[in-house]
Amino acid sequence: MKDSYDVIVIGSGLAGLTAANILGRSGHSVLLLEQHFQFGGLAAYFKRPNGIIFDVSLHGFPVGMIKSCRRYWNQEIADRIVPLPKIRFDNPQFSLETTFDREDFTKQLTEKFKIPKESVIAFFDKARSMTHYADASYTARQLFEEFFPGRSDVVRLLMEPITYANGSTLDDPALTYGIVFSNFMSKGVYTFQGGTDLLIEMMLAELHKNRVDTEKSAPVRKILIGGGKVSGVEIVKKNGEKQTVNAKVVLSNANLKGTIFDLVGKEHFRKDFAEEAEAVRLNNSSCQVYLSFKPGFIIDEDKCGDLLFSSVAPEFNSTKLLAKDITSRTFSFYYPKTRPPLPAAELAPCGTNSAANTRCCAVSSTNAHYSDWADMPSDDYTAAKDALIENTVDYLEKYVPDARENIDWKEAATPATFKFYTEHWNGASFGTKYEGLAVSRKLHHQIGGLFHAGSVGIIMSGWLGAVNYGVIAANDIDAALLENK
Ligand SMILES: Cc1cc2nc3c(=O)[nH]c(=O)nc-3n(C[C@H](O)[C@H](O)[C@H](O)COP(=O)(O)OP(=O)(O)OC[C@H]3O[C@@H](n4cnc5c(N)ncnc54)[C@H](O)[C@@H]3O)c2cc1C
Repeated sequence: MKDSYDVIVIGSGLAGLTAANILGRSGHSVLLLEQHFQFGGLAAYFKRPNGIIFDVSLHGFPVGMIKSCRRYWNQEIADRIVPLPKIRFDNPQFSLETTFDREDFTKQLTEKFKIPKESVIAFFDKARSMTHYADASYTARQLFEEFFPGRSDVVRLLMEPITYANGSTLDDPALTYGIVFSNFMSKGVYTFQGGTDLLIEMMLAELHKNRVDTEKSAPVRKILIGGGKVSGVEIVKKNGEKQTVNAKVVLSNANLKGTIFDLVGKEHFRKDFAEEAEAVRLNNSSCQVYLSFKPGFIIDEDKCGDLLFSSVAPEFNSTKLLAKDITSRTFSFYYPKTRPPLPAAELAPCGTNSAANTRCCAVSSTNAHYSDWADMPSDDYTAAKDALIENTVDYLEKYVPDARENIDWKEAATPATFKFYTEHWNGASFGTKYEGLAVSRKLHHQIGGLFHAGSVGIIMSGWLGAVNYGVIAANDIDAALLENK
């Protein structure tokens, strides 16, 4: 770490990593600071004994990620992005398998759900036409009512995966639904072959090639302001050691509200802006159950698919989707093909991409409220987590018979876990609701040199949204630095 940089990026989520890479590649001096002992933010993985490795948020993203990674990272990263062709739904209203693209959805909607083709085409066209400038008062509920009145089964098919992918509800602006849904519908769902560990390793190599300095276990506790402009950051390490690093620009990839109220301080902003920021709603958090199976126990791919949206709720219901009494679970299944053997020279740091990998894993994710988990006495919290794991294993046996006796590792994460590892307010999985985008974009008009990138506004969240927001922020910063040269 030097004493001074052009840009300091706080946080190594996909937005922070991408912005740092673009700025480093453009010749700016860049320091990337991460409070956690691992880079990647919610693009996280963790290891357990005997070569077990779990991905936290590598479940699926749209095809646009290939182009973004090719342009803003490198061809090798882009080349590892592969389709996940088997997306399954199983709920009291319907069971089906789809490739999750416009062609197959049109087929399912017309043939299985008996919706007239003209309505399906008109719906897709309307969703596709939505941009950030569309009328934000028109809700997803109104959109579905316009095209599929009274069809709660159709709403479920169209909405449930997007709620899972970005936390949006029927009462959020239809544009937040339309943009994300259309991104997926263009070519289906994709994943990174090799796992999150390999992706982050490849990204770090590219960052270092572009001369970006990176520091983990380096929590920023203050963004320093002088004369209405940023001047640097103060890092406070776990041992209490403080360090100041100067910079012309600070890009925060930390939670938007945490950036404004914890790292900068309300007093540095105009009153009307601070009020607007206070009113921004956080998005929901998540619970996950991570299950690893004994080597050689291979899950039936035809039965489970790659992603399984499973629910016992009679109809789609945003409130029920978040309730502690879980009725809906999204399972991601990881087969040995997820981490195919790598040549020895390319082995990921955790060494799991070896030929010996014959493991399957399943990760169950459910959207959740932070308040349901945050302040529980420790014994109750442990008991609630155990119940979450056991109920999930029982539930999984419907799709993976003998799952219980073949599990060799099980554990759970709750909204409190997500808060602990990312410091996001309320452990938010997808940052803030839509109104956060305007606040995030206006930061540098309040304080010179202060920028934000990361999950906000529903659209700019998820793997692709976060990468693309990192690109937008890097372009703004590049322009600001050139202007001030
Ligand atoms: C359970 C779950 C499942 C998901 N599934 C999917 C999916 O299938 N598909 C998809 O596209 N997306 C998914 N997502 C969402 C996706 O992972 C996130 O939207 C995306 O990774 C967020 O990137 P980000 O750049 O906003 O930052 P984050 O990943 O939130 O990272 C922010 C970083 O800032 C660091 N930080 C915070 N404060 C400080 C500080 N003071 N000093 C230094 N560092 C700091 C944090 O430690 C963290 O590393 C999922 C998320 C969750 C939680």
